[in-house]
Amino acid sequence: MVFFKYRNLIHQLDHQAFDRLLQPGDTTLYSGIYRCEVCGYEIVSTKGDSMPPEHHHKHTLAQGPISWRLIVRTIQKNPDVARDRESRNRGYLER
Ligand SMILES: [Zn+2]
Repeated sequence: MVFFKYRNLIHQLDHQAFDRLLQPGDTTLYSGIYRCEVCGYEIVSTKGDSMPPEHHHKHTLAQGPISWRLIVRTIQKNPDVARDRESRNRGYLER
């Protein structure tokens, strides 16, 4: 589970990036925090890097393989320079 202190620095965004599940070795399309859908293990990955290998952490046989979901996307450009929230959201989607 991720934690944060300053609510004004985190924005909710309905984007397909959060719906896609990545498998071990897949290329990361978005920089951010990823969570294993099976056990909750969290990692940070950078756009263009490979997700960790299949034996990154242990699951029981019953749990099955690792599957990663993006839970917090990070950006390199400060969105606070945008004039309003709508233009910021448009900018997120274009990257
Ligand atoms: Zn796991």
